[in-house]
Amino acid sequence: MTPPAPPAPTAPASNFIRNIIDEDNRTGKWNGRVTTRFPPEPNGYLHYGHAKSICLNFGLAGAYGGICHLRFDDTNPEKEEQEYVDSIIEAVQWLGFDWHQHLYFASGYFDTMYACAESLIKAGRAYVDSQTADEMRQRRGTLTEPGTDSPFRARPIEENLELFARMKAGEFADGTHVLRAKIDMASPNINMRDPAIYRIRRASHHRTGDKWCVYPMYTFAHPIEDAIENITHSICTLEFEDQRPFYDWVLDALADAGHFPRPLPRQIEFARLNLTYTVLSKRKLIQLVDESHVAGWDDPRLPTLSGARRRGFTPKGFHRFAERIGVAKSDSWIDMSVLEECMREHLNETAPRRIAVLDPLKLVIVNYPEGASEACQAPNHPLKPELGKRDMPFGRELWIEREDFMETPVKGFHRLTPGNMVRLRYGFVVKCTGCEKDANGQVKTVFAEVFPDSKSGTPGADQYKVKGNLHWVSAAHAYRAEVRLYERLFAHPQPGQRREGDPEGMERDYLDDINPDSIRVIEALLEPALRTAKPEERFQFERHGYFVADRRDSTEGSPIFNRTVSLKDSWGKDRV
Ligand code: ATP
Ligand code: MG
Repeated sequence: MTPPAPPAPTAPASNFIRNIIDEDNRTGKWNGRVTTRFPPEPNGYLHYGHAKSICLNFGLAGAYGGICHLRFDDTNPEKEEQEYVDSIIEAVQWLGFDWHQHLYFASGYFDTMYACAESLIKAGRAYVDSQTADEMRQRRGTLTEPGTDSPFRARPIEENLELFARMKAGEFADGTHVLRAKIDMASPNINMRDPAIYRIRRASHHRTGDKWCVYPMYTFAHPIEDAIENITHSICTLEFEDQRPFYDWVLDALADAGHFPRPLPRQIEFARLNLTYTVLSKRKLIQLVDESHVAGWDDPRLPTLSGARRRGFTPKGFHRFAERIGVAKSDSWIDMSVLEECMREHLNETAPRRIAVLDPLKLVIVNYPEGASEACQAPNHPLKPELGKRDMPFGRELWIEREDFMETPVKGFHRLTPGNMVRLRYGFVVKCTGCEKDANGQVKTVFAEVFPDSKSGTPGADQYKVKGNLHWVSAAHAYRAEVRLYERLFAHPQPGQRREGDPEGMERDYLDDINPDSIRVIEALLEPALRTAKPEERFQFERHGYFVADRRDSTEGSPIFNRTVSLKDSWGKDRV
């Protein structure tokens, strides 16, 4: 038995799954081997919930010196597409995980699955049922009443084998026959009442084309996939708990028939991620995309991993999040602010600082010569002097934030106001001399005088004591850019859920909870250094939050910026 390796930094905190693995290692069940898998169905893009599962499966394998397979569970030909396969591969790689050579497709096992089904027939543990779907439903029973046997349940083995072969040969129409496991129509667990394991479906498969017209059911295919790949711990979400007896039944029957050695893979369920202010269901995400509530699968507001990437979220932020929320055995909701905080923490450590004016107001320095300019120096990261400084040009005309000037200041306002002195961050101290308004009374231009000996970093600059410290960009040098300010996609923490006071029987539609202000596109004035930002470069715009150069719409020399998160969690305060 090999001793477990020290935990990898990305493995979620100690949890009940680790306890199971530790116990298996103690008893030597797998000789210390840990093999997990992440098994997406390629019928949509991955979402934040999948990130939890990916971090868990790859994280555990990493923590125990094992491996994690990436396996496409593509047993349902109608809904699956190569586009989804590609996007899933990209997303898992982006999260920083490596399956080495272990990339598999369930469809690659169709021959084995078919042989397994034949073995079950030969062992008298499966039969071809020729009832209509309605008849089967009627005989299935209910949660409180047992089912009744199909009239075809006692078919002789030879007849079952022949019919199954003819199903495969394409002799029957879709839905005329199904192969069912022969277990117990009276089982208290409905999933054990002779579940279907193979059905006729004339559909082209994205990988096997028209080779097959019979396809295995997911619940039959999944345990076989795990056994073929020698998975030790098959981790899935709680909704499969009731399927576990069937998972075990399939593998046990196939081990009896000599298909797989024991010990057999073990299914372990954990609580799926539920996150407030969003929806984590492929069906709903498909609807949001198809009905154009968002602008495609990688819309930065969508909780897909491709959306997260465009939003500026980081793989390390997701690792941190998975670790922080841990793994539980019962469902709960995690607040979106937890995810945002994980991103913010990582970005705070890594993102270079830049200056951006989002709501510009002109400031004219009346005693600074027209056409002149000089460089001021700003640190790239306050806690990382090794990242150096950059030049920011200063000139006679500057842009400041509109909210940083008040002609008649409220109490405690220490920014620009006639007669007041402030420091222009990393630059000079100026004193406001007045302002000019347009015909509507809106302030158009603010005027100030500069103190030439007050430049930051020069001797004597400290003699000026001011309370306000404003950010600014030079009007002559500013980069005028499109900036997209994103908010949460839904305005309600649990979209579509009933609220207190809703009349009896009232149903809500999650689409009605879409936040109408989830995106605001503005034209902002950015310091010139941002003009050369590369797609996916991330920055903190001082005082405003974290921003990323959009990887899709930016062009060389004209990056467009997306707001990833604001600097502080202000969401709860003004919304709910
Ligand atoms: P959805 O419920 O969104 O349709 P799914 O479960 O059908 O997703 P799969 O492609 O089957 O999607 O999922 C692949 C893996 O990701 C499965 O092991 C599944 O349990 C896990 N997973 C899916 N959604 C979540 C979630 N919200 N939290 C944690 N794990 C999840
Ligand atoms: Mg699924």
